[in-house]
Amino acid sequence: MSVIVAKQLTKTYVTGDIKVEAIRGVDFSIEPASFVSFIGPSGSGKSTLLNMIGCLDPPTAGLLEVVGQEITNLNRQDAARFRGEHIGFVFQDFNLIPVLTVFENVEYPLQMVQSWPKEKRRERVQEMLEAVGMGDQGNKYPSQISGGQKQRVAVARALVTNAKLVLADEPTANLDRETATMVIDLMKKMRDEYQTTFVFSTHDPRIVDNVEITFELEDGTLHRHETSAGGGHG
Ligand code: ADP
Ligand code: ADP
Repeated sequence: MSVIVAKQLTKTYVTGDIKVEAIRGVDFSIEPASFVSFIGPSGSGKSTLLNMIGCLDPPTAGLLEVVGQEITNLNRQDAARFRGEHIGFVFQDFNLIPVLTVFENVEYPLQMVQSWPKEKRRERVQEMLEAVGMGDQGNKYPSQISGGQKQRVAVARALVTNAKLVLADEPTANLDRETATMVIDLMKKMRDEYQTTFVFSTHDPRIVDNVEITFELEDGTLHRHETSAGGGHG
């Protein structure tokens, strides 16, 4: 079963008399445990596409299936619930909650969507912190850790619900070279370990070199490229 299936997927923004066809009837599918990037110039439709996949903004026409669920016609509330249970997000500016500790930030999505007993929740959070190499940093606040560490925490938070799909919008944009490479390696490790699909929107050649498939957006249309570099799992 594909993680994402899009058929003739279309998004048109209407503002007064002005219509913008941001995504123009695209078809694609993405398989489980893959590493995929969407690239393209500013205005080509990357954010629009990721927002539709992330159930943040509904399509105008066409079909969009995410982890086996047709999401085109979900109402706002169902979309929010679906997103909380099945999709993890990683952002370029990390989006950690400053008044919560590292541990509490990772725990946050579990409190939103799952009625786990406290002890089970804490074990899961600790497992994820250890998986990203932050097992002994749980008591710190986001302001006390580096950018690379923040992104590690964000990866743990994205995966804590056992989401099988992570959407990462320019996750390396605010990291230096070396740190960016470490974060990409970490995401690959997490993909291998948890069979999570990572979908990136990026301009970073280090990400593009590491993915198996690149979708290039151009004015709302899509071109698919296979890349050899990311082939296999590891
Ligand atoms: P978004 O719309 O997803 O927020 P943008 O497409 O506006 O992101 O681009 C984010 C940054 O990347 C901007 O600083 C922009 O100048 C730069 N950028 C945009 N297109 C390209 C490109 N094709 N190659 C390299 N950098 C780009
Ligand atoms: P990218 O992420 O590649 O920069 P976007 O998805 O942000 O591209 O934008 C695609 C097109 O849709 C652009 O022409 C942009 O101006 C337009 N667009 C994006 N969001 C909106 C919106 N909320 N209302 C109207 N037009 C929008």
